[in-house]
Amino acid sequence: MSIEFALPESIANQTGLTRMMAEQVMRALSRRYDEQEHQRPWEYINVIWPFIQQIEAADLKRSLSKNGGNGAKPAEKKQGTGNLRMIHMIETLSWGDAGIYLSTPSSALAGAAINAVGTPEQKERFLKRFTEGAPKWGAMAMTEPHAGSDTSNIRTTARLDPETNEWVLNGEKIFVTSGSLAGKESNGIIVVWATLDRSLGRAGMRPFVVEANTPGMTIAKLEEKMGIRASDTAAIVFQDCRIPYDNILGSPELVAPDATEGKGFKGAMKTFDASRPYVAASAVGIARAAFEFTRDTLAKEGIVIPTAPPYHTLSAMQRDLIHMEVELKAAWLLTVRSAAQLDAGQPNSLEASMAKVKAGKVVTLITQKCVEMLGPLGYSRELLVEKWMRDAKINDIYEGTGQINTLIVARRILGYTRNELK
Ligand SMILES: Cc1cc2nc3c(=O)[nH]c(=O)nc-3n(C[C@H](O)[C@H](O)[C@H](O)COP(=O)(O)OP(=O)(O)OC[C@H]3O[C@@H](n4cnc5c(N)ncnc54)[C@H](O)[C@@H]3O)c2cc1C
Repeated sequence: MSIEFALPESIANQTGLTRMMAEQVMRALSRRYDEQEHQRPWEYINVIWPFIQQIEAADLKRSLSKNGGNGAKPAEKKQGTGNLRMIHMIETLSWGDAGIYLSTPSSALAGAAINAVGTPEQKERFLKRFTEGAPKWGAMAMTEPHAGSDTSNIRTTARLDPETNEWVLNGEKIFVTSGSLAGKESNGIIVVWATLDRSLGRAGMRPFVVEANTPGMTIAKLEEKMGIRASDTAAIVFQDCRIPYDNILGSPELVAPDATEGKGFKGAMKTFDASRPYVAASAVGIARAAFEFTRDTLAKEGIVIPTAPPYHTLSAMQRDLIHMEVELKAAWLLTVRSAAQLDAGQPNSLEASMAKVKAGKVVTLITQKCVEMLGPLGYSRELLVEKWMRDAKINDIYEGTGQINTLIVARRILGYTRNELK
């Protein structure tokens, strides 16, 4: 596969606009919504929504079209730029403020799951709402008190009631990004992973779409967090929550666990292949914010990176700055590669996990280093550097922790199965 390093003009133009949003709207709201954790940044939400509706409409059209849809064979798919466009946008918005970016109304992970395994009818029914009307949110609920990295352990059940032909969901989900917005605000959706048969492990898992305000679904708690505090994170309880039969994504047929990994879980993997480049992009945006601020502040003190030899006289601080920039670029290039593969309809599981691991580590290390290099200034709440350090860590946790994504990379490179390398 060839990669074109020049940014398409349409994406470059969009990045200018996004940057204005990040600089002028998001940065101005950063501290307020970090401190007022459970209030939502409507000033941003209302401004970004018209742009998101256009993106959602284009995505839906592409997904439903024969050429770009999941039904098309890779060879039939046209090379698009949708994911490349998204990572640039996410990187810049996260440079503005990652928590506020995560409050963006969009189909988000619910959309990724529906696009990965939904039928054309389901795409139309569940995703069209994101192209019109008031702002709305999508969310995906996989994690439970007893099942995080080990998703095969989920206990939320889905039972078919043969009398009403409805699925009945029971269980508890925790740490659902945009869970309360998607579950309570106008017309949102949550993709809930539940098991049809726990004895089958991953093979028994299926995603179900639950519409906002469905009886039996309760937002039990809003999490209080270290970072990305502008982002809504909810615990949700399902108690005899009834949803229509047609809200199951994929087939209800069960596949024996020893025959294949399970069709249901493959949908989750496909969702993560699409979302991990986005998380990596967000990580790079936060890292760049901290790096640029630190570099510019040190430059005012006369600490600059020389552009000519002798390089052996570099100070420790100059070396640290160079090292940070190299790491940032490496993380970004991996991110771009994994998104470009998605656009080309090529498998990207390995590269998406690589990008996610690298960017998650890089953002954690760079933001910590920036706090350290700026001394008390870095630690003070007068500046945003300490906030960026708190916002950074989540990128090494959700969508598969650094350790889990490292395992995925190792398995794929070495050719081990999930059971051979745990
Ligand atoms: C702010 C926030 C938002 C989130 N949003 C969502 C969301 O929208 N939807 C959703 O479903 N979930 C969400 N999550 C949950 C997140 O995906 C999980 O926290 C994550 O998958 C880790 O699971 P866990 O917390 O149960 O940790 P555990 O799985 O218990 O892991 C604990 C530690 O052990 C390590 N570990 C576990 N297994 C292995 C192994 N085999 N080898 C090596 N190390 C291992 C992990 O890397 C980690 O360091 C969110 C979490 C947070 C904090």
